[in-house]
Amino acid sequence: MTFPRVRMRRLRRNATFRRMMCEIALSPDDLIMPLFVRCGSGVRNEIPSMPGNYQLSPDTLVEEARAVEGAGVPAVILFGIPDEKDAVGSQAYAADGIICQAIEAVKQACPALCVITDVCLCEYTDHGHCGVIHVNRDGRRDVDNDATLELLVKEALAHAHAGADMVAPSDMMDGRVGAIRDALDAAGFSDVPIMAYSAKFASAFYGPFRDAAESPPQFGDRCSYQMDYANGREALREIALDIEEGADIVMVKPALPYLDIIRRAAERFDVPIAAYQVSGEFAAIKAAAANGWLDEKRAALETLTAIRRAGAKLILTYWAKEAGAWLR
Ligand SMILES: [Zn+2]
Repeated sequence: MTFPRVRMRRLRRNATFRRMMCEIALSPDDLIMPLFVRCGSGVRNEIPSMPGNYQLSPDTLVEEARAVEGAGVPAVILFGIPDEKDAVGSQAYAADGIICQAIEAVKQACPALCVITDVCLCEYTDHGHCGVIHVNRDGRRDVDNDATLELLVKEALAHAHAGADMVAPSDMMDGRVGAIRDALDAAGFSDVPIMAYSAKFASAFYGPFRDAAESPPQFGDRCSYQMDYANGREALREIALDIEEGADIVMVKPALPYLDIIRRAAERFDVPIAAYQVSGEFAAIKAAAANGWLDEKRAALETLTAIRRAGAKLILTYWAKEAGAWLR
C-alpha cells in the first residue's frame, strides 16, 4: 500500500500520537556521569573545553555526586588526578590515594549511588601512557602488556576495597578483564561487576578529556593498544574476548562516530552495551551552542537518543546531570 491510502503523517499529527509512537524513551536510568577528582578541599576548577564540568576535591565531589543523584542519575564514574605521578602510576592503587579517598567519600554520602571507577594508569603515570613502558623489539618505547596487567589488578582491587560498586578497565591491554575478574573473585569481590572498555578507538575526540585528567601521552601515541577507527570486525572480536574473560557490560568508545559498532555489538551479544559519549563529542556541541549555531538541549538529547536507538543501554555522558533533570 502506498499514498494516498498510506499517510505516514497521520500518526505524527499531534503530540499525543507522537508520544504513543515514540520507540526510544530516554531515561535518567540510562546515564552515567563522569567526574574528576583531585587533592585538596573546596576545589572547583572548571575545565575550559568542557563547560559545566570541573576538577573537584573530595568535598566538592560529594556535593556534585549528590546533585547527580538528585537528578535521578543512578551512577557516576570517577577519574582521579593525583598530585604526584610516577612511571608506574602508584597513586592509582595507593590505599590513601586520591581515587580511593574519593570512592570512600562518595559511598559514605550517597550509599545508593553506583560508584564506578575507571581502571587505567594514564592519569597516574608521568609519561601519560596507560601502562608500564618498556622498549619493544623494534627498539621503540611502548606499553608492556603483561607487566601492566599486574598493576591494573592492584588498581581494581584497591578500588573494590575502598567501596567501588563496579570497575571499568579502560586501558585496552590484552587479558586484563580475565586478570581482574580472577583477582576480584579471589579477594572476595565476586559480586563486583566489570564494565569493560572493550572497543576503545584511538580517537581525535578525546582531546578535552586529556586536559581534564591532565593525562596526554608525553611521547608517541596510543595506537599500539587502542583500536584503529577504520576497524569494525576487530571491534567485535575485542568485545567477544572481553565477554569470554568475564566482562558483565561491554563498552564502545567514542559513541556518535561509532553507532554502527554499537548496533553490531547489540545484535551479536546479549550483555548490556554501554557507550561513552566522549569529551570531544560534548565539547563540539557546547562550542556550537555557545556560538548560537545549535540548540544545546535539543542536540544533546538527540545524540543520546541516537546512541540508545543504536543499541546501547548505558551512556556515559558529560550531560548526565543536566539530561537527568531535563528528562524528569
Ligand atoms: Zn588510559
